Amino acid sequence: MEKRRTVPVKLDVDSHSAALLEDTVDEFLWAANYVTRHAFEGDFVTTSKTTLHDDTYEDVREETPLHSNHVQAARNKAADAAKSVLAKWKRGKKASMPYFTSPHLVYDHRTATFHDDYVSLATVDGRIEADYVLPDEERETPHAEYFFSEEYETTGAELHYTNGNWMLHIHCKTDVESDTPEQETTENRTVLGVDLGVTNLAVASTGTFWTGEEFDHWRREYENRRGDLQEHGTRWAHENIQSVGRKEEGRFKLTLHRISNELVAEARENECSVIAFEDLTDIRERTGASWGHKWAFNRLYEYIEYKAEEYDINVEQVDPENTSRRCSECGFTHPDNRESEDFECLKCGYENHADYNAAKNIGLRYLRRTQTGAGGGAPVGVRLNSGTVNANGAYDPPADSVGQSGSPR
Ligand SMILES: [Zn+2]
Repeated sequence: MEKRRTVPVKLDVDSHSAALLEDTVDEFLWAANYVTRHAFEGDFVTTSKTTLHDDTYEDVREETPLHSNHVQAARNKAADAAKSVLAKWKRGKKASMPYFTSPHLVYDHRTATFHDDYVSLATVDGRIEADYVLPDEERETPHAEYFFSEEYETTGAELHYTNGNWMLHIHCKTDVESDTPEQETTENRTVLGVDLGVTNLAVASTGTFWTGEEFDHWRREYENRRGDLQEHGTRWAHENIQSVGRKEEGRFKLTLHRISNELVAEARENECSVIAFEDLTDIRERTGASWGHKWAFNRLYEYIEYKAEEYDINVEQVDPENTSRRCSECGFTHPDNRESEDFECLKCGYENHADYNAAKNIGLRYLRRTQTGAGGGAPVGVRLNSGTVNANGAYDPPADSVGQSGSPR
Protein backbone atom coordinates (compact mmCIF):
# COMPACT_ATOMS: atom_id res chain seq x y z
CA MET A 1 0.00 0.00 0.00
CA GLU A 2 1.01 3.62 -0.25
CA LYS A 3 1.76 5.90 2.62
CA ARG A 4 1.13 9.55 1.88
CA ARG A 5 2.39 12.72 3.49
CA THR A 6 1.89 16.41 2.85
CA VAL A 7 4.74 18.83 3.50
CA PRO A 8 4.03 22.57 3.65
CA VAL A 9 6.81 24.64 2.06
CA LYS A 10 6.87 28.42 1.81
CA LEU A 11 7.86 29.86 -1.57
CA ASP A 12 9.93 32.91 -2.38
CA VAL A 13 7.91 34.47 -5.21
CA ASP A 14 8.93 37.69 -6.98
CA SER A 15 6.27 40.23 -7.91
CA HIS A 16 6.16 39.32 -11.61
CA SER A 17 5.63 35.63 -10.77
CA ALA A 18 3.14 36.52 -8.06
CA ALA A 19 1.01 38.39 -10.59
CA LEU A 20 1.03 35.37 -12.90
CA LEU A 21 0.13 33.01 -10.04
CA GLU A 22 -2.73 35.29 -9.01
CA ASP A 23 -4.13 35.23 -12.55
CA THR A 24 -3.77 31.45 -12.68
CA VAL A 25 -5.52 31.04 -9.34
CA ASP A 26 -8.38 33.25 -10.54
CA GLU A 27 -8.81 31.19 -13.69
CA PHE A 28 -8.58 27.94 -11.72
CA LEU A 29 -11.29 29.05 -9.26
CA TRP A 30 -13.44 30.22 -12.14
CA ALA A 31 -13.07 26.79 -13.81
CA ALA A 32 -13.81 24.88 -10.59
CA ASN A 33 -16.92 27.00 -9.97
CA TYR A 34 -18.04 26.65 -13.58
CA VAL A 35 -17.87 22.85 -13.39
CA THR A 36 -19.53 22.86 -9.95
CA ARG A 37 -22.46 24.90 -11.28
CA HIS A 38 -22.79 22.42 -14.11
CA ALA A 39 -22.72 19.49 -11.64
CA PHE A 40 -25.66 21.00 -9.75
CA GLU A 41 -27.74 21.77 -12.83
CA GLY A 42 -30.74 19.61 -13.56
CA ASP A 43 -32.56 17.14 -11.35
CA PHE A 44 -29.52 15.16 -10.24
CA VAL A 45 -26.12 16.18 -8.97
CA THR A 46 -23.44 14.96 -11.37
CA THR A 47 -20.44 13.53 -9.55
CA SER A 48 -18.86 11.45 -12.33
CA LYS A 49 -15.54 12.93 -13.41
CA THR A 50 -15.94 11.44 -16.89
CA THR A 51 -19.38 12.96 -17.39
CA LEU A 52 -18.27 16.31 -16.05
CA HIS A 53 -15.21 16.15 -18.31
CA ASP A 54 -17.31 15.41 -21.39
CA ASP A 55 -19.76 18.16 -20.52
CA THR A 56 -17.39 20.97 -19.58
CA TYR A 57 -13.84 20.40 -20.82
CA GLU A 58 -14.22 22.12 -24.20
CA ASP A 59 -16.01 25.12 -22.69
CA VAL A 60 -13.41 25.65 -20.02
CA ARG A 61 -10.52 25.27 -22.47
CA GLU A 62 -12.14 27.92 -24.64
CA GLU A 63 -12.80 30.31 -21.79
CA THR A 64 -9.49 30.14 -19.95
CA PRO A 65 -5.79 30.03 -20.82
CA LEU A 66 -5.27 27.31 -18.18
CA HIS A 67 -2.94 24.37 -18.76
CA SER A 68 -5.05 21.31 -19.67
CA ASN A 69 -4.00 19.59 -16.42
CA HIS A 70 -5.23 22.60 -14.43
CA VAL A 71 -8.56 22.29 -16.23
CA GLN A 72 -8.71 18.64 -15.19
CA ALA A 73 -7.69 19.44 -11.61
CA ALA A 74 -10.44 22.08 -11.41
CA ARG A 75 -12.97 19.52 -12.68
CA ASN A 76 -11.77 16.96 -10.07
CA LYS A 77 -12.10 19.57 -7.38
CA ALA A 78 -15.69 20.25 -8.46
CA ALA A 79 -16.50 16.51 -8.64
CA ASP A 80 -15.10 15.86 -5.15
CA ALA A 81 -17.02 18.78 -3.70
CA ALA A 82 -20.24 17.60 -5.36
CA LYS A 83 -19.68 14.11 -3.93
CA SER A 84 -19.17 15.50 -0.46
CA VAL A 85 -22.43 17.48 -0.66
CA LEU A 86 -24.27 14.38 -1.84
CA ALA A 87 -22.82 12.36 1.05
CA LYS A 88 -24.10 14.98 3.49
CA TRP A 89 -27.57 14.90 1.97
CA LYS A 90 -27.58 11.13 2.34
CA ARG A 91 -26.82 11.52 6.03
CA GLY A 92 -29.74 13.96 6.30
CA LYS A 93 -27.46 16.97 6.70
CA LYS A 94 -27.83 20.35 5.11
CA ALA A 95 -25.33 21.41 2.49
CA SER A 96 -25.48 23.75 -0.45
CA MET A 97 -23.66 24.04 -3.75
CA PRO A 98 -19.98 24.74 -3.04
CA TYR A 99 -18.45 27.98 -4.25
CA PHE A 100 -14.66 28.21 -4.22
CA THR A 101 -13.10 31.53 -3.26
CA SER A 102 -10.02 30.74 -1.17
CA PRO A 103 -6.92 31.21 -3.30
CA HIS A 104 -5.47 27.84 -4.18
CA LEU A 105 -4.39 25.85 -7.18
CA VAL A 106 -3.76 22.13 -7.69
CA TYR A 107 -0.51 20.99 -9.30
CA ASP A 108 0.56 17.62 -10.65
CA HIS A 109 3.65 16.33 -12.42
CA ARG A 110 2.66 17.91 -15.70
CA THR A 111 2.16 21.38 -14.22
CA ALA A 112 4.94 21.41 -11.60
CA THR A 113 8.56 20.26 -11.49
CA PHE A 114 10.10 19.82 -8.05
CA HIS A 115 13.82 20.54 -7.91
CA ASP A 116 16.09 20.37 -4.86
CA ASP A 117 15.96 24.09 -4.04
CA TYR A 118 13.11 25.40 -6.14
CA VAL A 119 9.95 24.51 -7.95
CA SER A 120 8.85 25.33 -11.46
CA LEU A 121 5.12 25.99 -11.80
CA ALA A 122 2.85 26.32 -14.83
CA THR A 123 0.79 29.52 -15.01
CA VAL A 124 -1.63 30.99 -17.53
CA ASP A 125 1.42 32.40 -19.30
CA GLY A 126 4.34 29.99 -19.24
CA ARG A 127 6.23 28.81 -16.19
CA ILE A 128 7.60 30.60 -13.16
CA GLU A 129 10.30 29.46 -10.76
CA ALA A 130 10.25 29.96 -7.01
CA ASP A 131 12.81 29.04 -4.33
CA TYR A 132 11.78 27.07 -1.28
CA VAL A 133 12.03 28.96 2.01
CA LEU A 134 12.99 26.15 4.39
CA PRO A 135 13.23 26.19 8.17
CA ASP A 136 16.69 26.67 9.65
CA GLU A 137 16.77 23.57 11.73
CA GLU A 138 16.09 20.73 9.34
CA ARG A 139 16.21 18.41 12.28
CA GLU A 140 12.86 16.70 12.92
CA THR A 141 11.05 18.77 10.34
CA PRO A 142 8.75 16.97 7.96
CA HIS A 143 10.81 18.49 5.14
CA ALA A 144 13.83 16.43 6.00
CA GLU A 145 11.82 13.35 6.80
CA TYR A 146 9.65 13.16 3.71
CA PHE A 147 10.39 15.76 1.13
CA PHE A 148 14.13 15.14 0.95
CA SER A 149 13.84 11.45 1.68
CA GLU A 150 14.70 9.15 -1.15
CA GLU A 151 12.01 6.76 -0.03
CA TYR A 152 9.34 9.33 -0.73
CA GLU A 153 8.26 10.32 -4.20
CA THR A 154 6.66 13.71 -4.87
CA THR A 155 3.25 13.27 -6.47
CA GLY A 156 1.88 16.79 -6.72
CA ALA A 157 1.05 19.83 -4.67
CA GLU A 158 -1.52 22.41 -3.75
CA LEU A 159 -0.55 26.04 -3.92
CA HIS A 160 -2.21 28.28 -1.32
CA TYR A 161 -2.02 31.99 -0.74
CA THR A 162 -2.45 32.70 2.98
CA ASN A 163 -1.45 35.61 5.19
CA GLY A 164 0.57 37.20 2.42
CA ASN A 165 2.55 34.01 1.70
CA TRP A 166 2.59 31.56 -1.17
CA MET A 167 2.63 28.12 0.40
CA LEU A 168 3.08 24.89 -1.47
CA HIS A 169 1.59 21.82 0.21
CA ILE A 170 3.67 19.13 -1.42
CA HIS A 171 2.24 15.62 -1.51
CA CYS A 172 4.71 12.78 -1.11
CA LYS A 173 4.17 9.05 -1.09
CA THR A 174 6.07 5.89 -0.42
CA ASP A 175 5.25 2.22 -0.73
CA VAL A 176 4.99 0.25 2.47
CA GLU A 177 4.25 -3.41 2.99
CA SER A 178 0.72 -4.20 3.98
CA ASP A 179 -0.54 -7.44 5.44
CA THR A 180 -4.14 -7.29 4.39
CA PRO A 181 -5.92 -5.96 1.33
CA GLU A 182 -8.35 -4.05 3.56
CA GLN A 183 -5.52 -1.79 4.55
CA GLU A 184 -5.37 -0.51 1.01
CA THR A 185 -8.57 1.44 1.45
CA THR A 186 -7.60 3.68 4.30
CA GLU A 187 -7.18 7.04 2.68
CA ASN A 188 -8.86 9.98 4.34
CA ARG A 189 -9.28 8.20 7.64
CA THR A 190 -9.27 10.60 10.53
CA VAL A 191 -9.09 10.55 14.31
CA LEU A 192 -11.23 12.42 16.83
CA GLY A 193 -9.14 13.52 19.83
CA VAL A 194 -11.02 13.80 23.15
CA ASP A 195 -9.82 15.52 26.32
CA LEU A 196 -11.51 14.59 29.60
CA GLY A 197 -11.65 16.94 32.56
CA VAL A 198 -13.56 18.35 35.49
CA THR A 199 -14.94 21.65 34.20
CA ASN A 200 -15.61 20.13 30.83
CA LEU A 201 -16.22 16.42 31.09
CA ALA A 202 -15.21 16.01 27.46
CA VAL A 203 -13.88 18.27 24.71
CA ALA A 204 -13.44 16.96 21.16
CA SER A 205 -10.88 18.08 18.60
CA THR A 206 -13.83 19.19 16.48
CA GLY A 207 -14.40 21.94 19.05
CA THR A 208 -17.47 20.39 20.70
CA PHE A 209 -17.61 20.74 24.50
CA TRP A 210 -19.57 18.66 27.01
CA THR A 211 -19.69 20.52 30.29
CA GLY A 212 -19.31 18.81 33.64
CA GLU A 213 -21.98 20.99 35.27
CA GLU A 214 -24.77 18.47 35.24
CA PHE A 215 -22.54 15.75 36.56
CA ASP A 216 -21.09 18.05 39.24
CA HIS A 217 -24.52 19.14 40.36
CA TRP A 218 -25.69 15.59 40.96
CA ARG A 219 -22.44 14.57 42.55
CA ARG A 220 -22.60 17.41 45.10
CA GLU A 221 -26.25 16.74 45.80
CA TYR A 222 -25.46 13.09 46.36
CA GLU A 223 -22.56 13.80 48.70
CA ASN A 224 -24.64 16.25 50.77
CA ARG A 225 -27.44 13.78 51.21
CA ARG A 226 -25.08 10.98 52.04
CA GLY A 227 -23.36 13.28 54.53
CA ASP A 228 -26.70 14.04 56.22
CA LEU A 229 -27.59 10.41 56.44
CA GLN A 230 -24.19 9.40 57.77
CA GLU A 231 -24.63 11.74 60.72
CA HIS A 232 -27.50 9.55 61.89
CA GLY A 233 -25.33 6.46 61.88
CA THR A 234 -28.30 4.11 62.16
CA ARG A 235 -29.05 1.00 60.19
CA TRP A 236 -31.93 2.88 58.58
CA ALA A 237 -29.52 5.60 57.48
CA HIS A 238 -27.07 3.09 56.11
CA GLU A 239 -29.72 1.47 53.94
CA ASN A 240 -30.77 4.88 52.75
CA ILE A 241 -27.23 5.75 51.74
CA GLN A 242 -27.22 2.68 49.57
CA SER A 243 -30.53 3.52 47.98
CA VAL A 244 -29.53 7.14 47.38
CA GLY A 245 -26.31 5.78 45.90
CA ARG A 246 -28.13 3.53 43.49
CA LYS A 247 -30.44 6.32 42.42
CA GLU A 248 -27.60 8.76 41.90
CA GLU A 249 -25.53 6.22 40.09
CA GLY A 250 -28.44 5.71 37.71
CA ARG A 251 -28.62 9.43 37.13
CA PHE A 252 -24.91 9.73 36.47
CA LYS A 253 -25.06 6.85 34.09
CA LEU A 254 -27.91 8.42 32.16
CA THR A 255 -25.88 11.60 31.70
CA LEU A 256 -22.83 9.62 30.66
CA HIS A 257 -24.84 7.54 28.21
CA ARG A 258 -26.12 10.70 26.60
CA ILE A 259 -22.62 12.17 26.32
CA SER A 260 -21.20 8.93 24.94
CA ASN A 261 -23.97 8.77 22.31
CA GLU A 262 -23.24 12.34 21.31
CA LEU A 263 -19.52 11.72 21.13
CA VAL A 264 -19.93 8.67 18.91
CA ALA A 265 -22.32 10.68 16.71
CA GLU A 266 -19.69 13.42 16.52
CA ALA A 267 -17.12 10.88 15.32
CA ARG A 268 -19.53 9.44 12.74
CA GLU A 269 -20.60 12.83 11.40
CA ASN A 270 -16.97 13.71 10.92
CA GLU A 271 -16.15 10.33 9.39
CA CYS A 272 -13.57 9.48 12.03
CA SER A 273 -12.30 5.92 12.19
CA VAL A 274 -10.69 6.34 15.62
CA ILE A 275 -11.62 8.13 18.85
CA ALA A 276 -8.49 8.82 20.91
CA PHE A 277 -8.45 9.48 24.67
CA GLU A 278 -5.55 10.04 27.00
CA ASP A 279 -4.58 7.07 29.15
CA LEU A 280 -6.94 7.12 32.13
CA THR A 281 -4.71 5.38 34.69
CA ASP A 282 -3.34 8.45 36.49
CA ILE A 283 -5.99 10.93 35.46
CA ARG A 284 -6.79 11.95 39.05
CA GLU A 285 -3.20 12.98 39.69
CA ARG A 286 -3.03 14.93 36.45
CA THR A 287 -6.35 16.73 36.50
CA GLY A 288 -7.17 16.95 40.20
CA ALA A 289 -10.34 15.02 39.47
CA SER A 290 -12.29 13.36 42.28
CA TRP A 291 -12.86 9.63 42.55
CA GLY A 292 -16.34 10.37 41.25
CA HIS A 293 -14.87 11.94 38.16
CA LYS A 294 -12.51 9.06 37.61
CA TRP A 295 -15.46 6.72 37.88
CA ALA A 296 -17.31 8.86 35.32
CA PHE A 297 -14.33 8.94 32.92
CA ASN A 298 -14.05 5.18 33.05
CA ARG A 299 -17.78 4.69 32.42
CA LEU A 300 -17.71 7.20 29.58
CA TYR A 301 -14.79 5.40 28.00
CA GLU A 302 -16.51 2.01 28.32
CA TYR A 303 -19.79 3.28 26.89
CA ILE A 304 -18.07 4.94 23.98
CA GLU A 305 -15.97 1.87 23.33
CA TYR A 306 -18.93 -0.43 22.90
CA LYS A 307 -21.16 2.08 21.10
CA ALA A 308 -18.38 2.95 18.66
CA GLU A 309 -17.75 -0.70 17.87
CA GLU A 310 -21.10 -0.90 16.14
CA TYR A 311 -19.85 1.64 13.59
CA ASP A 312 -16.37 0.16 13.22
CA ILE A 313 -14.81 3.06 15.07
CA ASN A 314 -11.84 2.12 17.26
CA VAL A 315 -11.42 3.67 20.69
CA GLU A 316 -7.82 4.08 21.83
CA GLN A 317 -5.79 5.60 24.66
CA VAL A 318 -2.57 7.54 24.19
CA ASP A 319 0.26 8.61 26.49
CA PRO A 320 -1.10 11.68 28.33
CA GLU A 321 2.25 13.31 29.06
CA ASN A 322 2.19 17.06 28.38
CA THR A 323 -0.98 17.00 26.27
CA SER A 324 -2.18 20.05 28.22
CA ARG A 325 1.18 21.87 28.16
CA ARG A 326 2.09 21.30 24.54
CA CYS A 327 1.14 23.78 21.83
CA SER A 328 -0.91 21.92 19.22
CA GLU A 329 0.22 24.41 16.59
CA CYS A 330 4.01 24.52 16.98
CA GLY A 331 4.76 21.72 19.45
CA PHE A 332 6.41 23.97 22.05
CA THR A 333 5.89 22.44 25.51
CA HIS A 334 5.97 24.49 28.72
CA PRO A 335 3.93 24.46 31.95
CA ASP A 336 3.35 28.23 31.63
CA ASN A 337 1.66 27.79 28.25
CA ARG A 338 -1.46 26.97 30.19
CA GLU A 339 -3.28 29.00 32.78
CA SER A 340 -6.39 27.15 33.92
CA GLU A 341 -8.79 27.30 30.95
CA ASP A 342 -6.60 29.46 28.77
CA PHE A 343 -3.86 28.20 26.57
CA GLU A 344 -1.40 30.67 25.14
CA CYS A 345 1.79 29.38 23.57
CA LEU A 346 4.83 31.26 24.89
CA LYS A 347 6.64 30.57 21.63
CA CYS A 348 4.22 31.09 18.76
CA GLY A 349 1.42 32.94 20.54
CA TYR A 350 -1.29 30.43 19.59
CA GLU A 351 -4.31 30.99 21.85
CA ASN A 352 -7.26 28.76 22.45
CA HIS A 353 -9.26 27.00 25.13
CA ALA A 354 -6.82 24.80 27.04
CA ASP A 355 -9.03 21.70 26.79
CA TYR A 356 -9.48 22.15 23.05
CA ASN A 357 -5.72 22.46 22.61
CA ALA A 358 -5.33 19.25 24.65
CA ALA A 359 -7.93 17.41 22.53
CA LYS A 360 -6.00 18.31 19.39
CA ASN A 361 -2.76 17.08 20.99
CA ILE A 362 -4.39 13.78 21.92
CA GLY A 363 -5.52 13.25 18.33
CA LEU A 364 -2.08 14.24 17.01
CA ARG A 365 -0.33 11.92 19.44
CA TYR A 366 -2.41 8.99 18.27
CA LEU A 367 -1.63 9.92 14.68
CA ARG A 368 2.11 10.15 15.26
CA ARG A 369 2.16 6.93 17.21
CA THR A 370 0.48 5.01 14.40
CA GLN A 371 2.49 6.68 11.68
CA THR A 372 5.90 5.86 13.09
CA GLY A 373 5.12 2.15 12.88
CA ALA A 374 4.03 0.24 9.81
CA GLY A 375 0.63 1.81 10.45
CA GLY A 376 -1.35 -0.11 7.86
CA GLY A 377 -4.84 1.15 8.58
CA ALA A 378 -3.65 4.28 10.32
CA PRO A 379 -5.71 7.45 10.12
CA VAL A 380 -4.10 10.31 8.26
CA GLY A 381 -5.48 13.34 10.04
CA VAL A 382 -7.06 14.80 13.18
CA ARG A 383 -10.55 16.16 12.70
CA LEU A 384 -10.83 19.79 13.78
CA ASN A 385 -13.80 22.12 14.02
CA SER A 386 -13.29 22.69 10.33
CA GLY A 387 -11.16 20.43 8.17
CA THR A 388 -8.35 18.19 9.32
CA VAL A 389 -4.74 18.54 10.30
CA ASN A 390 -2.22 15.80 9.57
CA ALA A 391 0.77 14.68 11.63
CA ASN A 392 2.98 17.26 9.92
CA GLY A 393 0.65 20.06 10.89
CA ALA A 394 -0.60 20.57 7.35
CA TYR A 395 -4.18 21.75 7.31
CA ASP A 396 -6.82 20.63 4.83
CA PRO A 397 -10.09 22.55 4.74
CA PRO A 398 -13.23 20.47 4.21
CA ALA A 399 -14.03 20.20 0.49
CA ASP A 400 -17.43 21.81 0.82
CA SER A 401 -16.41 24.81 2.86
CA VAL A 402 -13.57 26.04 0.73
CA GLY A 403 -13.98 29.75 0.52
CA GLN A 404 -15.70 30.18 3.84
CA SER A 405 -13.92 32.43 6.20
CA GLY A 406 -13.06 31.51 9.76
CA SER A 407 -10.11 30.03 11.50
CA PRO A 408 -9.60 26.27 11.49
CA ARG A 409 -7.44 26.49 14.55
ZN1 LIG B 1 3.04 27.35 19.73
